[in-house]
Amino acid sequence: MPDNKHTKIPDIKQLIDQLLKIPSISCTSPEIDQGNIHIINLLADWFESLGFHCVIQALEHDENKANLIATLGHGNNGLVLAGHTDTVPLDEALWQVDPFKATEKNDRFYGLGSCDMKSFFAIIIEALKSIDLKKINQPLIILATADEETSMSGAKAIAKHANSLGINNARFAVIGEPTDMQPVRMHKGMMMEAIQLVGQAGHSSDPALGNNALEAMHKVISELLNWRDELQSKYTNPLFEVPVPTMNLGHIHGGDNPNRICGSCELQIDIRPLPGMKLSDLRSEMQRRLNRVLQETGIQLKTIPLTDGFEAMDTDRHSEIVQLAEKMTNTESQVVAFGTEAPYYNGIGLETIVMGPGNIKQAHQPDEYIEMKSLMPATDIIRKLIFHYCL
Ligand SMILES: [Zn+2]
Repeated sequence: MPDNKHTKIPDIKQLIDQLLKIPSISCTSPEIDQGNIHIINLLADWFESLGFHCVIQALEHDENKANLIATLGHGNNGLVLAGHTDTVPLDEALWQVDPFKATEKNDRFYGLGSCDMKSFFAIIIEALKSIDLKKINQPLIILATADEETSMSGAKAIAKHANSLGINNARFAVIGEPTDMQPVRMHKGMMMEAIQLVGQAGHSSDPALGNNALEAMHKVISELLNWRDELQSKYTNPLFEVPVPTMNLGHIHGGDNPNRICGSCELQIDIRPLPGMKLSDLRSEMQRRLNRVLQETGIQLKTIPLTDGFEAMDTDRHSEIVQLAEKMTNTESQVVAFGTEAPYYNGIGLETIVMGPGNIKQAHQPDEYIEMKSLMPATDIIRKLIFHYCL
């Protein structure tokens, strides 16, 4: 057995239990948001005792939030194993078990974050226990992020400072989101925008007294639907269950009275672009088209991103990590319907796949769980990846 100094490191059940015991809910409402700093400190403790060099990167906007960058080994051909440490909020009344510990039942571990995705860190540590870490000769970098469930500000901060954090010493990345250990190389992007129109209110009996924002919104909606048709005929990808980019008109509010000219109107839309479509291009194209249809109407237009959104993920089918993971798991790489931090890691030049234990169906659900029988096969694949890239 390798002589790793991991006397401080508990067994895998204890690892999962300790991670679940530290609540780390991310939420856009400040009353619910908890920060992740305590879980980052715990992980840093464990990885330090395994000999990793640990950097805790505080996030600028919140002192309770941080990323962990834990590195072992030197070189420029290494591997990143990445995951988020935050969870979604929960409705405790819907839970049959305590969400803040690992409850062992039906050959599963139940608890908030068990599947999405605290168990992945336990698996990495479990894999490391059986490796002679003195033999690591390419960097193995563990990234544990904050705020994936809300703004992805953790992954953004890592991408922004990738050079000084030494992350470009790796060439490949695996994000351990729940995919039943099937390699994933593509997902759609997401953007949500508010379109605000301001005209002029006035008495309904004389249209000349005002400028109707609701009627202007009619022009906007027609233009958006035309644009959607164009996008859907220009971009298709048969790998996705919904093979075209989508645009949903999800919320509208305007005016206050039938006998008043509508002074202002707001529409909120959601766009899910395919790989190859950039959010910044979509935003400027939308602006250009809406400016054109509202020209000479006297209506003021404002478009506001409701979230930062995220880009589509697109890692080449022929990239080395995709090929290797397909071979190791004996599964063809997949596309998924959920978003991840992968576009940020692809953006800094890492060839990235998403592959982790657990099923996304259990994520964000009451009584979230991970099957115990999924843990050892996942540990084995992570161990093999470390061997392949870092030893
Ligand atoms: Zn997740």
